[in-house]
Amino acid sequence: MLNTQNMSNQSAAKKLSTQTFRSSLLSLFVAPRQILRGEQALAESGEAIARLGKRPLIVGGDRTLASFTPQLQAILLPQQLKSAPASYSPDCSEVSLASLRAAANKHQADVIIGIGGGKALDTAKLLAHQCQLPIVTIPTSAATCAAWTALSNIYSEQGAFEYDVALDKCPDLLLLDYSLIQTAPQRTLVAGIGDALAKWYEASVSSGSSPATLIIAAVQQARVLRDILFQKSAAALQEPGGEEWREVVDATVLLAGVIGGLGGAQCRTVAAHAVHNGLTHIPAAHNALHGEKVAYGILVQLRLEEMIQGNQLAASARQQLLKFYSEIGLPQTLDDLGLGHITLAELRQAAEIACGKASDIHRLPFTVVPEQLMAAMVSTTSLVDGNRSPINLASEN
Ligand SMILES: [Zn+2]
Repeated sequence: MLNTQNMSNQSAAKKLSTQTFRSSLLSLFVAPRQILRGEQALAESGEAIARLGKRPLIVGGDRTLASFTPQLQAILLPQQLKSAPASYSPDCSEVSLASLRAAANKHQADVIIGIGGGKALDTAKLLAHQCQLPIVTIPTSAATCAAWTALSNIYSEQGAFEYDVALDKCPDLLLLDYSLIQTAPQRTLVAGIGDALAKWYEASVSSGSSPATLIIAAVQQARVLRDILFQKSAAALQEPGGEEWREVVDATVLLAGVIGGLGGAQCRTVAAHAVHNGLTHIPAAHNALHGEKVAYGILVQLRLEEMIQGNQLAASARQQLLKFYSEIGLPQTLDDLGLGHITLAELRQAAEIACGKASDIHRLPFTVVPEQLMAAMVSTTSLVDGNRSPINLASEN
């Protein structure tokens, strides 16, 4: 049942994507055409939006649309733009996209504006891609780099990850309004830090030995991104709106996007995102944010490298991350994700999906089976592998 569904999803993904690769021709979408950022970026964006179209369709979640449509209309009306709102609820799904395409037609939209978190922006980008219209992204939190990338994730109406779609461009305009981002719960920035951290742990595994110039550049940027986050996150969270906070927002929304752009549409994800994708199939996991599940997934990935490869570098990287996670409040265990009471069957289901044939977990340089993944998922905070001498125990407390 699951396999048939996955296969039809993959063929749907192929149909949705207009990107074609001939043997020697590779398309690269590195960055949005224009980025406007500042304390009042939104209020000053009217002219830039008006250059892209006259009839914007504003795509967002119900609550975001209720609170921001009046503000957006006040910016668009002086430019003589006729806008209409359209909700993507319940999720970034094929059903929502079908009704949004109808809404775009009805409004005769000539530009799409996506406003909200990662899923709202992914929906708006994919809608624009399908309708071949310009796209403006307005992130309302720093929880992901979705405002930047030429990639959308598709979920079921129940919120389970199904597949991703490579888009034929990055957004035409990205509006990064720091005052707007500052109104989001602090937890969203913490999640964004988790998602951005994964760039290094995943790219260095999947692409660390690549001889390709742009891939080398992407992997090195991922290391720089990790170091910036290690250095500035704690201070940023203490002073929302301050200088370090702005730098960390730039890191999670912009620099994380640069790495995806240079490195290719998939951002070269490995086990951390595969674990996230598996977890989205457990209903109880829906209260955890994308970046929270990914951050936990990084620990699982390192744990796999320790357990299967005997990789001591992974063991110390995991200890370093556990310390950092407890400083800034990222989840370290299933319990922290609100999954302390899931059944063994649910854990197995998540592990089996994460180990599926097309899963990015197989970019690890060794084979992973669901039993091993389940063992890693329940031991993310263990001090050392039980089979090995406890070399790090002394320095732990
Ligand atoms: Zn992610």
